[in-house]
Amino acid sequence: MTEPLHIVGGGMAGSEAAWQAAQAGIPVVLHEMRPKVETFAHRTGDLAEMVCSNSFRSDDDEQNAVGLLHWEMRAANGLIMSTADRHRLPAGGALAVDRDPFAADVTAQLKAHPLVSVSYEEVTELPETGRWIFATGPLTSPALAEAISAVTGTGALAFFDAIAPIVYAESIDMSVAWRQSRYDKGETEEERTAYINCPMTKPQYEAFIDAMLAADKAEFHEGETAGYFDGCLPIEVMTERGRETLRHGPMKPVGLTNPHDPENKPYAVVQLRRDNKLGTLYNIVGFQTKMKYGAQTEVFRMIPGLQEARFARLGGIHRNTFLNSPTLLDGQMRLKARPNIRFAGQVTGVEGYVESAAMGLLAGRMAAAEILGRELPPVPQTTAMGALVTHISGGAEAKTFQPMNVNFGLFPPLEGVRGGRRGRKDRYKGYTDRAKEDWTGWLEGQAAETA
Ligand SMILES: Cc1cc2nc3c(=O)[nH]c(=O)nc-3n(C[C@H](O)[C@H](O)[C@H](O)COP(=O)(O)OP(=O)(O)OC[C@H]3O[C@@H](n4cnc5c(N)ncnc54)[C@H](O)[C@@H]3O)c2cc1C
Repeated sequence: MTEPLHIVGGGMAGSEAAWQAAQAGIPVVLHEMRPKVETFAHRTGDLAEMVCSNSFRSDDDEQNAVGLLHWEMRAANGLIMSTADRHRLPAGGALAVDRDPFAADVTAQLKAHPLVSVSYEEVTELPETGRWIFATGPLTSPALAEAISAVTGTGALAFFDAIAPIVYAESIDMSVAWRQSRYDKGETEEERTAYINCPMTKPQYEAFIDAMLAADKAEFHEGETAGYFDGCLPIEVMTERGRETLRHGPMKPVGLTNPHDPENKPYAVVQLRRDNKLGTLYNIVGFQTKMKYGAQTEVFRMIPGLQEARFARLGGIHRNTFLNSPTLLDGQMRLKARPNIRFAGQVTGVEGYVESAAMGLLAGRMAAAEILGRELPPVPQTTAMGALVTHISGGAEAKTFQPMNVNFGLFPPLEGVRGGRRGRKDRYKGYTDRAKEDWTGWLEGQAAETA
C-alpha cells in the first residue's frame, strides 16, 4: 500500500496539490477546516473558493507572465485551470470565472477521485511523521500559525504583508537617478552602490505630497485590523501626520550626493532597494501603501527617475500569513527543519489565486515523486513556475521578503534582445517561447521516468 500524502487546506493550492498527487497514483487525505471553522473572507464550505475577485487575470500566454503560468498549468493537466476554463465568463483578454460553479466543480472532482478523501477538520500542529503539505493560505488558522511559529521561530511567520511597490530596474531613468548607499556604507563596491536614489526639489516634493493626500485609498476588509501598523505605516498615513514626516523618514536626503548635480543637495530622496538576486527588480523603500492601484501609478511616476517606471507589482497592506520562505524552504518546497513537511500556496509568499495554485501543482508533484522514491529535477528558472519557486526558495532577498506575483522580472534575462520599452514585445515573446520549451521538456522528463 503506497504511503498517503496529507494535505492541509483545500484552497487553490491544496486542491491542485491533491489532484496532482492523486493523478500520480498517491492516496491523498485532504484536511479542510471549513465549514466547521470559518475565516473572515470565505463564505462557503467548498474547496477552491475564490474569496474576492473572480479573475485569474490575463490569459495572454505570449506577452504576460500570469498568462504564461496559465499555459504551464494547462500543459501539466492542472485541475484549477481545466475547471476555470469550463466556467469561463466573457472578460476580454482576462480569464474570469463563474466562482460558485467553479468551486463546486473542483470539490466534486476531488471527491469523485478514487484516491482522494476529504476530512473536514482543523489541523493545529506540524506532525513529525508522515508526509504533509501545508497549504493553509493567507488566513491560516491562529492555532496552526502558532504551531508553525514554534517550529520556524518567531519572526519567520508574518501576519500582514506590507508591500512597497516593485519597479523593473530597466525602467528607471538612470540619467536622473544614481546608485549609492547612504554614507557609502558597505565593504564592497556592490554594497556601497546597493540603492538607487531619486532626487526631489522642494516644489517636486510639495506636489508629490499633495498628490498623495488627494489619492484614492482602499478600505480595510472587515476583520482586518490596523493594529499591526508599528514599523510599517502606509506612506500616506505618514504623510497625513505631517507634510515633513517623509523627509525625516524614508525620504530623508542625508548621506547622499547626486553625481548628476553634485552642487545641489536634493530636498528629499526616494530610495529603491534591490529585491532579487538577479537585480532586475527594485522596491521603493518604505513605500507600503493602501492607495488604489491607479492612484499609485500616477503618484509614483511623479518621482524623478520613475517617470516611465513599470511596476512588477504595486504596493498594498493586507491580512496575510506567510513564511520567510527564502530562509525556511528548500528548492523542493520542504521545510528545512522538518523535511517531511512541505508548504504550498500563498503561505509560501506568492500572491494570487493563480500563483498559489501553481505552487500547489509543484508541491503535489514533488511530494508524489518523493513517495514513489524519486526526486524531481529542479524546475527551470526560465519557466513561470521555476521563476516563482526559485524566488521564494532563495532568489528573493530574505530580509525584505514580501509576497510576490509572477512577473518577467523574476526571469533570467535573455541574451541579445533589445532592452527598454521598445524591445518589450519581442523580449516578452522571447521569455514565453523559452519558458514553453523548457516547461515542456521538464514535463516530458517526468513522463519518460514514469513510463
Ligand atoms: C480578503 C482577501 C481577498 C483576496 N482577494 C484576492 C483576489 O481578489 N485575487 C487573488 O488572486 N487573490 C486574492 N486573495 C489572495 C487569495 O487568498 C489567494 O490568492 C488564494 O486564495 C490563496 O490560495 P491558497 O490555497 O494558498 O489559500 P486559500 O485559498 O485561502 O486556501 C487555504 C485553505 O486552508 C484552510 N485552512 C486554514 N487553516 C487551516 C487549518 N489549520 N486546518 C485545515 N484547514 C485550514 C482554509 O479554510 C482554506 O480553505 C485575497 C485574500 C484575502 C485574505
